[in-house]
Amino acid sequence: MHKKLFIPGPVEVAPEILQAMATPMIGHRMPEYALLHRGVKEKMKILLFTGGKVFLATSSAFGVMEGAVRNLVGKRCVNFCNGAFSDKWHDVARRCGKEADAVKVEWGKPVTPELVDQALATGRYDAITMIHNETSTGVMSPLPEIAAVLRKYPDVVSIVDTVSSMSALKIPVDELGIDCCIFGVQKAFALPPGLAVFTASQKALERCKGIDGRGYYFDFLEFDAADEKDNTPSTPCISQIYALDRQLERIFAEGLERRWERHREMATFVREWVQERGYGFFVDQPYRSLTLTCAVNTRNTDLPALKKSLGERGFAFDDGYGKIKGKTFRIPHMGDMQMADLREFLSVVDQVLPMP
Ligand SMILES: *Cc1c(COP(=O)(O)O)cnc(C)c1O
Repeated sequence: MHKKLFIPGPVEVAPEILQAMATPMIGHRMPEYALLHRGVKEKMKILLFTGGKVFLATSSAFGVMEGAVRNLVGKRCVNFCNGAFSDKWHDVARRCGKEADAVKVEWGKPVTPELVDQALATGRYDAITMIHNETSTGVMSPLPEIAAVLRKYPDVVSIVDTVSSMSALKIPVDELGIDCCIFGVQKAFALPPGLAVFTASQKALERCKGIDGRGYYFDFLEFDAADEKDNTPSTPCISQIYALDRQLERIFAEGLERRWERHREMATFVREWVQERGYGFFVDQPYRSLTLTCAVNTRNTDLPALKKSLGERGFAFDDGYGKIKGKTFRIPHMGDMQMADLREFLSVVDQVLPMP
């Protein structure tokens, strides 16, 4: 039996998308591929509000997260760490042999403009990494306010992970001045995993040129050269790019405003459920994520037992991530999920949960 996914990634994939993946294969050096690639790129630029470069990488998000560090950190970078994925990103930067400092923020708290300003004012850094929506803790950091600070530091390249937020709300890449925006597709985009998308500003591409050790697979300049021919440096995951093309069509058919509104509605609905059932919130407002809610298990619910019961009823449930597993649980509201899906899921949770 397929368990319907109510975990924060990978998320449930629409049958139409799975079908798009069954499109007969083409060669990536055939004109058919260039046409597909170009279409995806053009649609993506509209969705991301960018006139800059958009590249497709055959990897999960961390491939490009590592690649960005290798391509864009010259002198030293600062990594803002407020959850499992951003903590890991700092570790990755160090493993790549980069000079990197972590600014540790308590889990559940956002990265703030003040923290960014403090770090960059030292003049020690030429790059910054941060995660917009920390999926491990359900915190969404205030990007517009952080972007305003970044504008004071034009020599700093900003690398922002939007894996679990891109397309759920407006993230205008150029207006925010994000030099490299990265996301995988198995979360907010509701595609099967294995494809990552990233942007590169002119500043980012200039930076790469002076940096040694960019490697090959994630060399941004290789991507840029291939882009001239609407192509990728090595063989891309063509089936997933067909799926992405279809998903972009579906996103525009829904309408961006409507999509953003749906995510706000779902977030409100889940937060109300959490509150009414007597659970706490791991994140204070206004930093609660629009794409998942991280609840504190204040009722001491036996989460592994809940997970098991839900599994038997055909639902995959998440009982927390990393060091806050068991203490918290997460309910996703991203991708193609609709209010009706959440109502169905939460009513089953209600049936299974012992009353307080
Ligand atoms: C899931 C996730 C990642 C890791 O992505 P992979 O696809 O596993 O490489 C990175 N950042 C965020 C915010 C995530 O949610």
